[in-house]
Amino acid sequence: MSKGTVYLVGAGPGNPKLITVYGMECIQKADVIIYDRLVSKELLQYAKKEAELIYAGKEPGKHGNIQEQIHEWLVEKALQGKTVVRLKGGDPCVFGRGGEEAEVLAKQGIPFEIVPGVTAGIAAAAYAGIPVTYRNVATSFTIVTGHGRKEKGEDRIDWKALANGSDTIAFYMGVGNLSYICQQLIANGKPSDTKVAVIEWGTTEKQRTVVGTLQNIAEIVKAARISHPAIILVGEVVRLRESIQWFAELEGEWIEST
Ligand code: SAH
Repeated sequence: MSKGTVYLVGAGPGNPKLITVYGMECIQKADVIIYDRLVSKELLQYAKKEAELIYAGKEPGKHGNIQEQIHEWLVEKALQGKTVVRLKGGDPCVFGRGGEEAEVLAKQGIPFEIVPGVTAGIAAAAYAGIPVTYRNVATSFTIVTGHGRKEKGEDRIDWKALANGSDTIAFYMGVGNLSYICQQLIANGKPSDTKVAVIEWGTTEKQRTVVGTLQNIAEIVKAARISHPAIILVGEVVRLRESIQWFAELEGEWIEST
């Protein structure tokens, strides 16, 4: 039997309309869809009626060995001749382990394609009225994982380079680690009044954004009970929100009512 193709598809940042046309075509033709926690469930309604839908979500902080299981599913289903979609939030290769899954498929000689998606760091920023680059304000933009910590021996970030070498920084998976991130940036030379925005559930109807500085954003986030998924965006581009905020997000009473 000929092998099925595996499509590693980026579902986009949350709002289901932000998937690509090609990503949607892959969903429509899939026999099997293995999807992650942050993928909009609305997208699954475009699957064929008989398609097999497999949930492969990981809760933040609990990884277990689901990744091994995912690799097994991908290989097994493709060897059965099925068209498989591996549907991931945002872009499959931005903190999505798309690279690892592609390696497994390449090793097994299984045909695959990578279908890029709109990544949360750029999309949530845009929906908060913040362009990640802007002429004369930000000429560089860095995407960083925010979940490493030195005390836990997990921090492989070059904070000095980051604090001095990038105008805009988007931290993914960092909201539980926000004070540490701000401390490190300040300790390594970023001015403590550098603007920071934290955007929760970006691009969805649940989107909330809070704005502060490296000095006070951790407190603001705590008071507003912002949790994951959220993007932490550091840099002077955050100021542009004042003039170009366009998306109607949750605001106002939620600070008091939560
Ligand atoms: N591959 C994904 C990222 C996966 S890592 C992408 O390209 O977007 C998961 C992290 O992405 C979350 O912890 C959060 O930091 C970010 N994220 C994903 N969806 C988000 C959303 N709708 N709003 C804000 N942050 C989001």
